Amino acid sequence: MNVAFLVYGCRLNQAEAEGWRTALAARGARIVPADAPHADALCLHSCAVTAPAAREALRALRAFRARHPRATLVVSGCAAALMPPGLADLTLPHARKGDWVEAVCARLGLDGSAPAAPPPPRRTRAALIAQDGCDAFCAYCIVPHQRGAPVSVPMADLLGRADALLAEGCPEIVLTGCNLALYRDPETGARLPELLARLADLPRPGRFRLGSLEPCVADDAALIRLLAERRGRLCAFLHLPLQSGSDAVLRRMGRPYGVRQIRALLDRVCEALPCCGLGADWIAGLPGETEADAAASEALLRAYPFTGAHVFPYSRRPGTPAAAFPGQVPPGAIAARAAALRRAAEEVRAASLARFVGRALSVVPERLAGGVWRGLCAEGVACAVPPPARRGVPVAFTPAGTDGGRLTAGR
Ligand code: SF4
Repeated sequence: MNVAFLVYGCRLNQAEAEGWRTALAARGARIVPADAPHADALCLHSCAVTAPAAREALRALRAFRARHPRATLVVSGCAAALMPPGLADLTLPHARKGDWVEAVCARLGLDGSAPAAPPPPRRTRAALIAQDGCDAFCAYCIVPHQRGAPVSVPMADLLGRADALLAEGCPEIVLTGCNLALYRDPETGARLPELLARLADLPRPGRFRLGSLEPCVADDAALIRLLAERRGRLCAFLHLPLQSGSDAVLRRMGRPYGVRQIRALLDRVCEALPCCGLGADWIAGLPGETEADAAASEALLRAYPFTGAHVFPYSRRPGTPAAAFPGQVPPGAIAARAAALRRAAEEVRAASLARFVGRALSVVPERLAGGVWRGLCAEGVACAVPPPARRGVPVAFTPAGTDGGRLTAGR
């Protein structure tokens, strides 16, 4: 049974699908690339955060059906409910995530009688899902409507899973959630900083990275102190969905902070964690956004040493409050503002990367390409490390230059 996977969207989606791949392989499925000439099934885990993401999933599903008319199509994720009826053979929206493996195995006849597929190569990075769901209902966001109310994994389970991954030799674990800021241990009520501290105290070697984190929790003094004190064990890296540099836009989005708080947070992070990795999400063109608002976002982006940025052109999602806001920005203006933000982000990143030159970093090599090992340093910056190195074994690296957004050994 050859099973292909196509996964769209956030790190949480990627992590969920990774678990399903492993479960199907253990039941005897051969996991094949989505463009393999022979596939018996496709499991598509979809994303509906933007209209193009949902459209792309639909396009891929139709294309797969055309290439493999007899294959079984399984659709899950945020866009599952938006697919035309009858296209997929099995639709498993988020509410049925708990029985995804059993439902898919039953449909594909994977009863465990076939020998398990060989284990995948040792992982260089694994996601640890701590939390799912969100009830913040930001005006533009479809996620709470699809994923439902927040649910956290008990801390004891997370510590056990993390320890098992470290025991496998996984060198980096990324703590992931739909909205990590909402993490609460269901048994003790402990929050994210405590979870992170307990993970850092596990005895086996390896490092932990925080996934995308709402600014209100990143602002927690305990969290920043912990990242600084346990630097090395905890990656000096934060990715913050800031979304805008305009108070008026943040208010309309329903975000629980303003520009003053963002600046105070970024100042504190830069002081406590000099030369850290700093990423951010930005949305261009929320209804009512003016040219001055867009310029304010760019000014904020240019004011701090961001090493990465995801710029999302605003995408109207039916059912969200923003879809009905007056002052919808014309698509051309949205595209132009997104392009301006991306240009600014590239310039800021280039300047920011130069600060890493000459610093001692720890890189996890992931793949050999063009005679160098590609991988991320703890600060989340892409590096090109000369051999010798081994896949998945952290290596000390002092970059001497930058090239195409990577830190390199050459000038
Ligand atoms: S915090 Fe806001 S943007 Fe993030 S998932 Fe929740 S509703 Fe969506």
